[in-house]
Amino acid sequence: VGALSLGERGEHRPVARPLRPSYDLVVVGAGPGGSMAAWRAASLGLSVLLIEKRQEIGSPVRCAEGVSLVALQGLVDPEEAWISARVSQSQIVARVGGKVTDRWRGGGGQGLVLERRVFDRALAERAVAAGAQVWVKATVTGLLWEGGAARGVEVDWHGRQMQVEAGVVIAADGVESRLGTWAGLNTTLAQRDALVCAQYLLGGLDWDPDCLGFWIDEEIAPGGYAWVFPKGEGRANVGLGVQADLAQATALNYLDRFVEGEPALKCGSPVTLVAGNVPTALPSRPLVANGLMLVGDAARQVDALTGGGIIAAMTAGCTAGRVAQEALASGDTSARGLLSYQVAIDSGLGRRLHRSYRLRERYPAGTRADPRFVRLFAVATGLQ
Ligand SMILES: Cc1cc2nc3c(=O)[nH]c(=O)nc-3n(C[C@H](O)[C@H](O)[C@H](O)COP(=O)(O)OP(=O)(O)OC[C@H]3O[C@@H](n4cnc5c(N)ncnc54)[C@H](O)[C@@H]3O)c2cc1C
Repeated sequence: VGALSLGERGEHRPVARPLRPSYDLVVVGAGPGGSMAAWRAASLGLSVLLIEKRQEIGSPVRCAEGVSLVALQGLVDPEEAWISARVSQSQIVARVGGKVTDRWRGGGGQGLVLERRVFDRALAERAVAAGAQVWVKATVTGLLWEGGAARGVEVDWHGRQMQVEAGVVIAADGVESRLGTWAGLNTTLAQRDALVCAQYLLGGLDWDPDCLGFWIDEEIAPGGYAWVFPKGEGRANVGLGVQADLAQATALNYLDRFVEGEPALKCGSPVTLVAGNVPTALPSRPLVANGLMLVGDAARQVDALTGGGIIAAMTAGCTAGRVAQEALASGDTSARGLLSYQVAIDSGLGRRLHRSYRLRERYPAGTRADPRFVRLFAVATGLQ
């Protein structure tokens, strides 16, 4: 606060910026998807602006923060500062009518529970180190649409309306994305394809620090599941997601009931509470419009079985950053020029996401205590 320049009446006067700055690429949203896109494009020599509406990248955290180590290593070199805990085990309890019908425990893989406040910021800093600029506390309020194509964005930057020109826009603005809709892409999310989530960070727990916990129980979390992701020192992310159309109460009501009913969790004390939605739909299609690409949660690139989207967003962001560079180099940033992004996603990440969605559909809510689903879920959580 001390660094802000205050006017006579105490109001904050933003530093002057050119009225209509121009970049090769504007990326909206500094989550893992947006920061990876900005990093990749800046590394390839593009001038890049990454715009984030929050004043602190990565905060508040709306995530259980679990990723597979191998998958993360395929994208970045993990740093200790971002890692809360390393896990190699997971256990799944399936219950029907309060009775345990299946219990599974296994391991072998390596998982990480990240510290996303640090992780998200580190990814943005990596983009900056590669040459990208970042604006925080800057909300994109509209698209500049010229000649049937996205040509930039309108931004509320510290209370001042600005326009920023861009050769290409990447919309990585999360589950509540508006940019896709503004560009005419279909980003609607059916209630049955959304999980409403609530999560406590609980302290004072006596929980195996090497083990993720999952509960598949229609009374506890209809259409979804509950989780415990340890974060070291007796702390854990304890949360659940409920299929939006099946919720009879708020996600927080469900969470309180779950915590109360589990002796291992009841003794814990909440340190933080977060709420958020997870899209568990099929990935959006098309992913490109003239001058614009959709990335991460904005494109529904989330595993429909687990609700995990960090790795998918990073993977897609990386690809979109590369395609932006290629399209600008070729002089064709139309939907056709950006189509190789769609093709790359369809043949890799998209296939995996489609497979998870199909498997989830094969076991609709109410049938997931089936040991065959439990086994699939164990594989999808990636620690087997
Ligand atoms: C409770 C919960 C638990 C989860 N647990 C896991 C987990 O354990 N593992 C996992 O892999 N995934 C998990 N997820 C999903 C994961 O958090 C997301 O898939 C991931 O963050 C997607 O990254 P993203 O970059 O697409 O979007 P986000 O991380 O959501 O980032 C989007 C960014 O865009 C910004 N933004 C939005 N609109 C604008 C605008 N108009 N102007 C400027 N900026 C804007 C937002 O402020 C935000 O910072 C969980 C989600 C929830 C809700």
